[in-house]
Amino acid sequence: MLRTHTCGELTAANIDQQVTLCGWIQKIRNLGGMTFIDLRDRYGITQLAFNSETNAALQAQAQSFGREWVLQAEGTVKERYSKNDKIPTGEIEIIVDKVNVLNESLTPPFTIEDESDGGDELRMKYRYLDLRRNPVKNNLLLRHRLGIEIRNYMSNLGFLEIETPFLIRSTPEGARDFVVPSRMNRGQFYALPQSPQSFKQLLMMSGYDRYFQIVRCFRDEDLRADRQPEFTQIDCEMSFVEQEDILQIFEGLIKHIFKKVKNIEYGPFERMTYEKAMNLYGSDKPDARFGMTFVELNDCLKHRDFKVFNEAELVVGITAKGCGNYTRKQLDALTDFVKRPQVGASGLVYILCHEDGTFKSSVDKFYSQDDLKAVAAKCEAEPGDLILIMAGPRVKTQKQLCELRLEMGNRLGLRKAGEYKPLWVIDFPLLEWDEETQRYYAMHHPFTAPKPEHDAMLETNPGAVNANAYDLVINGNEIGGGSIRIHDRKLQQRMFKALGFTEEQANNQFGFLLNAFQYGCPPHGGIAFGFDRLCAVLSDADSIRDFIAFPKNNAGRDVMLDAPWEISQAQLDELGLQLKK
Ligand code: ASP
Repeated sequence: MLRTHTCGELTAANIDQQVTLCGWIQKIRNLGGMTFIDLRDRYGITQLAFNSETNAALQAQAQSFGREWVLQAEGTVKERYSKNDKIPTGEIEIIVDKVNVLNESLTPPFTIEDESDGGDELRMKYRYLDLRRNPVKNNLLLRHRLGIEIRNYMSNLGFLEIETPFLIRSTPEGARDFVVPSRMNRGQFYALPQSPQSFKQLLMMSGYDRYFQIVRCFRDEDLRADRQPEFTQIDCEMSFVEQEDILQIFEGLIKHIFKKVKNIEYGPFERMTYEKAMNLYGSDKPDARFGMTFVELNDCLKHRDFKVFNEAELVVGITAKGCGNYTRKQLDALTDFVKRPQVGASGLVYILCHEDGTFKSSVDKFYSQDDLKAVAAKCEAEPGDLILIMAGPRVKTQKQLCELRLEMGNRLGLRKAGEYKPLWVIDFPLLEWDEETQRYYAMHHPFTAPKPEHDAMLETNPGAVNANAYDLVINGNEIGGGSIRIHDRKLQQRMFKALGFTEEQANNQFGFLLNAFQYGCPPHGGIAFGFDRLCAVLSDADSIRDFIAFPKNNAGRDVMLDAPWEISQAQLDELGLQLKK
């Protein structure tokens, strides 16, 4: 080895030892007769000292080095004159007597510091330099630790990690596939898996009753904020289980992770039906760190002279505690917020609950003080509070009020970093009607089983069928989702039919699965967690990009490789592909 120690491990206990370190120059400080270099590697920073009195030539050489040069430095560990209690090696320095420049470096295009002066795009272009920075490095360390903890937990419970293929066949359900042309089968294409869903179900049929995999998945979606075209799932499946078993085992996984990584212990996670989540939070992934839950106000506010409310399917409000003194300007800002295209509401009604027991609202024309008092009572609003009300079609209005609730949560500091509220959302609808294409889509995926007691409605009232499907939600993020699967060929065929597949289409696309069902398929179910997202949530970070070593930018590009890129005519010819001009 070119070194005896790392730059993060020497302390006062090593004083007078002869050591050799390797690393990158973080900083050079010239103080006349002395030159100090902060030498950095993955493990930390150690100060190298060069003294003109003991070795003038060596000090002169050290002065000529630049940032990010790679050095091998040999010397003696000595107690430092001015100590730095912020780093573990801050008590010592190395009095260098030999330096070997392993490589020089151009001046990096941004500072390799915790707070870098480089913009996003620049740091992505030079990601290998960005990765030298502590915040990014710490994210990768966390990701590694998490991976180990997950593997330990799963393996201890008898789960086998089994790899499934990346070159598979395209299916039109779900998101758009990335496709890969096959040279040896002209005109035919592989698809990259959106998830190993079919394979894990087939593994259950093969008897591997506890499977997991930390696996890359690919989805060619229009990139919304913080989506990556390739991302990592903790993919899991079990046989001979019911929903309750899955919730228990994977609640255990999440608890294990929080205990190991955050030293937080949880009691049983809250469970909330999809219906309740929508009615109370307007979202199937509620941020339950704070209350401010929805109160339906149809009874109190419809049937007066206010047309907007009278014509609305839903009139619904939230109460912001202690905001009863909001100024006109603050209220206008909230109205502007809900009118932004991202939220898309047409307006916002407010009721200020004054300390003297009177009310001031934006709809005073239509409602008496008694009307407003009744609303306040229903919302459990007290003097000094602010009630914010929206109206319109049910689901749309719920989603808009959800945005406002989260915004108020931010403004009031209720979405606290370091606080985590994991919960299960259960009893999802099986199907979702799409107006545009006039058909049902599977809310989770087509392999999700209806609740046995709803089975009979699959043909008669498909929209009312609930599924044994569940999501794990933390602080407004969907961290995982799964379901009990269909394991009966006939039921799967009925499901495809409900989704508008002809028998031929179903056989063509999913014949392998329908066939497999005929050879002894056990009851099974599973779940998949977003590994990148889990890392981000545990670090109170917004972006999953910071937890991926080499991520794509918001336009789905790798700006370092400049990918995607064209391929040569020869490659196109070999693949039998022709580009449309
Ligand atoms: N394969 C599913 C997904 O990617 C998860 C599951 O049902 O296990 O969403």
